[in-house]
Amino acid sequence: MKNFVHRGQITKVVFGSGTRDRIPEEADALECRRVLVLSTPDQADQAERIADLLGAATAGTFTSAAPHTPVEVTEKALAHAASLGADSVLAVGGGSTIGLGKAITARTGLPQLALPTTYAGSEMTPILGETEGRRKRTRRLPEVLLKTVVYDVDLTLTLPPAVSVVSGLNAMAHAVEALYAEDRDPVAFLMAGEALDALVRSLPRILRRPADMEARADALYGAWLAGTCLGTVGMALHHKVCHVLGGTFGLPHAQTHAVVLPHVVAFNAPAPAAGEAMARLAQAMPGSDPATGLFQLAGQLGAPTALRDLGMPEAGIEQAAELVTQDGYWNPRPVDRDAVRAFLTRAWAGEAP
Ligand code: NAD
Repeated sequence: MKNFVHRGQITKVVFGSGTRDRIPEEADALECRRVLVLSTPDQADQAERIADLLGAATAGTFTSAAPHTPVEVTEKALAHAASLGADSVLAVGGGSTIGLGKAITARTGLPQLALPTTYAGSEMTPILGETEGRRKRTRRLPEVLLKTVVYDVDLTLTLPPAVSVVSGLNAMAHAVEALYAEDRDPVAFLMAGEALDALVRSLPRILRRPADMEARADALYGAWLAGTCLGTVGMALHHKVCHVLGGTFGLPHAQTHAVVLPHVVAFNAPAPAAGEAMARLAQAMPGSDPATGLFQLAGQLGAPTALRDLGMPEAGIEQAAELVTQDGYWNPRPVDRDAVRAFLTRAWAGEAP
């Protein structure tokens, strides 16, 4: 028998194809009468179309969301929201746009809805990461949890295949760390395993045929489950390494996750506390040990496999190893600087774990 604590989530989730048509009804159910629609510049057209769908319930759009939620962008969005009298925000996009929505909620209490269009999973978490200058601060704030998330598979069809696969590997990283989380519970374990199965079978299909609706639905389903895991249980070494690399060297988020994951899995694999996790991961990726399987999957998907290709300087390995081992945090295997330096060196060069 195992003792556990499970936390359920408050977010309402609607999943399917064409579900964006339900946005007016979902906004109305939350009594949102003046919705500010958010996006990045790349998705401004999509944001305009969703604003049209909302009709009279649209306050306007703000289309300058940027990666890592810079505080200066949030301040502009807040001023825009105030000038329009917005009573809620609707993020149309990936983690960058949803992060902006959370930053607005954290400062104003305005409720957020989202139409996620990547597999990053931010929409299911109370995590807010913001940057001021070169400093990134990440907090868990239950009050930023979204009220309603509408997954519309149709909106993911335009996510370019190369971005889709790294975004999917980012989602897999949430699921892998949920499998061995210190506070894992039976529900999180089931969701993480199911997420891995769905992503492993769908990502190669998306690469071959980006418009494959069945594969797109499977990937978004996996991303929802993986994001829920990220929101409900604690993460470990992998997320720490990616946070350090992103913050210190400005490396791109999803690509960094894709490169680092096989190396952290290889490091954690021998730990008794990761035994069940490794067995479940092997079930999702039969044929080889999980770390090799993940490395080969990234290669098959054409995802980056070397930190040097993402712009990390070789001289940064030592600094990263120092930062990764600085604060205490839980990991199934105790983390030491030599081991981190060794796997970062392999990850930097693109070598197998
Ligand atoms: P992103 O939101 O930055 O999107 C990448 C690019 O793809 C953007 O230009 C975007 O407009 C475009 N795009 C997104 N969906 C598209 C679509 N369907 N069609 C065409 N273009 C599309 O990328 P991301 O990986 O989703 O998010 C990364 C950010 O999210 C990082 O800042 C990361 O720290 C954060 N994040 C936060 C959490 C959390 O829980 N707080 C979780 C995961 C990621």
